[in-house]
Amino acid sequence: MTNHIAVLGSTGSIGVQTLDVARMHHIRVSALTANNSIRLLEEQAREFQPDMVAVLDEEAAGQLKIALADTSVKVLGGQEGILAAAQHEAADTVVNAIVGVAGLLPTLAAIRAGKHLALANKETLVAGGSIVMQEVRKAGVNLYPVDSEHSAIFQCLQGCPEGALKKLILTASGGSFFGKTREELSHVTVESALQHPNWSMGRKITIDSATMMNKGLEVIEASWLFGVEDKDIEVLIHRESIIHSMIQLKDNAVIAQLGTADMRIPIQYALTYPQRLPSPAKELDLAEIASLSFAPPDNATFRCLPLCREALQKGGLYPTVANAANEVAVQMFLQEKISFLEIAGMIEQALSDFHCDKQEITLEEILCADKETRMKLGG
Ligand code: NAD
Ligand code: MG
Repeated sequence: MTNHIAVLGSTGSIGVQTLDVARMHHIRVSALTANNSIRLLEEQAREFQPDMVAVLDEEAAGQLKIALADTSVKVLGGQEGILAAAQHEAADTVVNAIVGVAGLLPTLAAIRAGKHLALANKETLVAGGSIVMQEVRKAGVNLYPVDSEHSAIFQCLQGCPEGALKKLILTASGGSFFGKTREELSHVTVESALQHPNWSMGRKITIDSATMMNKGLEVIEASWLFGVEDKDIEVLIHRESIIHSMIQLKDNAVIAQLGTADMRIPIQYALTYPQRLPSPAKELDLAEIASLSFAPPDNATFRCLPLCREALQKGGLYPTVANAANEVAVQMFLQEKISFLEIAGMIEQALSDFHCDKQEITLEEILCADKETRMKLGG
């Protein structure tokens, strides 16, 4: 179990819930970071008394420094500040709750500094999985999944003998628009896309859930975390978000992990593994829920999931390109510059315009493919 954490992206949905868990279990917090939301960061710094906080936006960092002048908390700005937080010497585990590929370099900095990782930032593994997994092995650190599906699989795998796994079954809520036709999706609004049925999350992942891109990113994330190929990762729509994922074993026994839709359960397991401690999350009442439903995903309507599978099969830099195109497209959709269906269209275009069959890739190539894709799409 961890005693001391650094929380990257502490002002976001996962960051705030991580601090709930830290508060409940008296886990010390040595560093906090955010993009620019300094009011909440100041509050968090006053409560948790970390050694340092870092703000990506230099101007906001300057303001926070003045606001925290009466404390001993050190305030850093810019990307260097975020990287310093990722390597903070007092922390044994770094929780990466940054959104987007911006989390990749901090993830690598933390691993190289010998920190265990509690990873919520799935884009890190989608864009840079090969490098991240190599560095994890080299540094001998542990990588604990925070994403609820991957935490569920990790939990199901406890006590599972080597070689017994047949396939992973990732559950998906289906997001805000499950059951809609392409015709209906052609004029949905940003506001309606942001209404997730079960989870309250950051804006980017909520849109990713509505397009099913989130499940595509999670298939790639799962393939790196558990060393499983695309063909052995099934996706199953399960509207209630009670079964967080399952594993099927060689003998066709299926093991599932269930719970209320509360991210503090997987966050806490990543921090207290292998312990099981009391949780702030509510108990699951299956009698009240009464029934659970399942359906196959509609890949003809929601194109992002099959596009991610295609990128994973092609390997190399294709997942990096799919992720970058999605980040640009989601931003444009949120700014009402493109329609909902154009998100998948932009990813499809970016993948078909990209040609590179190299499988062994370097960090520089990942960063370059990410940047070039963004530039081409005007992001
Ligand atoms: P969020 O938007 O609520 O929070 C993001 C955090 O990252 C904020 O603290 C923000 O200040 C910081 N940030 C944003 N851009 C940054 C940048 N360029 N550099 C440094 N910091 C930056 O997002 P979230 O919903 O908490 O999601 C965080 C990550 O966790 C994502 O990768 C998401 O896919 C994953 N995740 C989230 C949930 C959830 O329930 N929210 C569940 C599973 C996985
Ligand atoms: Mg998830």
